[in-house]
Amino acid sequence: MDADVVIVGAGVGGAACALAFARLGARVLVLEQHPGPGNLNRGDSLLPTVTAYLSAWGVLERFRDAGGKPLERMIVQAEGRPLMDVPLRHEASAPYLVLAHPEIERTLVEAAEATGRVEVRYRSHVTGLAEREGRVVGVRLRRRGEDDETVSARLVIGADGQSSRTRQALSIPQARVPYDHGYYGIALTRPAGYEDAMRLELHPRGGVLVVPRVEPDQVGLGVLVQARDEELFRSGSLHEKLAAVRARTPLLAECEPVDDDPAHLYRLARSHSPRYVARGAALIGDAIHTTNPVAGQGMTMAIEDAAALARHAAPVLVEGRDLEALDAALAAYERERYPSNAAILRWSHLLSHVYAHPGRVAHWLRARVFGIGGTALGRRLHRTIYGRLATRPLPPEPAALPAPTEPLGLPLGSA
Ligand SMILES: Cc1cc2nc3c(=O)[nH]c(=O)nc-3n(C[C@H](O)[C@H](O)[C@H](O)COP(=O)(O)OP(=O)(O)OC[C@H]3O[C@@H](n4cnc5c(N)ncnc54)[C@H](O)[C@@H]3O)c2cc1C
Repeated sequence: MDADVVIVGAGVGGAACALAFARLGARVLVLEQHPGPGNLNRGDSLLPTVTAYLSAWGVLERFRDAGGKPLERMIVQAEGRPLMDVPLRHEASAPYLVLAHPEIERTLVEAAEATGRVEVRYRSHVTGLAEREGRVVGVRLRRRGEDDETVSARLVIGADGQSSRTRQALSIPQARVPYDHGYYGIALTRPAGYEDAMRLELHPRGGVLVVPRVEPDQVGLGVLVQARDEELFRSGSLHEKLAAVRARTPLLAECEPVDDDPAHLYRLARSHSPRYVARGAALIGDAIHTTNPVAGQGMTMAIEDAAALARHAAPVLVEGRDLEALDAALAAYERERYPSNAAILRWSHLLSHVYAHPGRVAHWLRARVFGIGGTALGRRLHRTIYGRLATRPLPPEPAALPAPTEPLGLPLGSA
């Protein structure tokens, strides 16, 4: 056996999963097709639920050191008119951090490797599953210029994103329902007078979310793109796109694009697989669910999946228990996570209607709702609801088991 666990994909889900298993004593091999971390530039918000896990795993400082910025306020305006200004901080909660997605991946991978039980192999494209007697016992992989090989493990985990090859090989369906809107992401020079905050600028053509970046002179934008503007944001010139963004808020009137940061239009869809496990293998993260990013829950779900799967399965692997025990652990993982993920998908979908419904009437209603959120009563309500969400206790972890003595000893060349 080459490893206790082989994970396909070193995105946020795969890297968090490797860390969670390794902390409990399992030896993990992660296979990633890209040459290094940070090939996907999406999702920079680490919500308190995520930072609570990072803190419990003893790695939160690494994210601060990587440049993670705490967000302490949410400010909402409509065409220059202030509507709401509420704290994103609760005395009992973990912080709300923003960090560029590639840095989140990189930091998680480094934290996993620092356990000494995780090996991450880049440029390793998994092409299929190895099976024996109807059970997954490893993966086949291809590395450029080398012969195909098979790596064996007691547990294979697909953390390979929304087009998951692992999910397809396990014949688990995932119907995608596309949204009629998308998000345009771009970095701009920091506007004068902008304080570090989650700043939402409402406009009838769609809201613009402005968050700080690690670079002190820059901000990151998430621009809601309605169907009627899709063509402009897909194939218009940078100048045209920028004019359309600036027209939505006076805040960005003087801002210029940051040269080396790629701007991108994301198409969105929601999906939820009916099963998370099959034939002794398991799936986590976007491989089994994708959600509208309006509530910033994608990484939260992927990390919570990773933590739950490790909590159920790692002790079984490390104690060397039988396959029946492993199957029971996988079933317990699916039973725990499916309803939670279904609820988050439902809420995010509902919220996407509120935030993204097109037209002036919808815009007027949104501005009214946020305006109420800015009153004394609204601020009290926000404090209660946010406090409850941000201080949700984590499930207790099993105790870490003794470290294995032998090295991974994988039959692979160096990365
Ligand atoms: C516009 C946008 C904004 C978002 N904003 C937020 C936010 O603010 N907060 C938040 O929490 N979430 C956000 N999300 C969602 C979040 O980014 C994802 O849900 C999360 O990153 C999923 O992580 P994952 O590891 O499951 O999948 P992925 O990040 O897709 O990682 C999968 C990895 O598997 C690798 N892989 C795939 N196939 C193979 C193969 N055959 N062999 C080897 N490797 C393979 C890929 O290269 C990739 O590295 C946003 C999403 C979008 C689109």
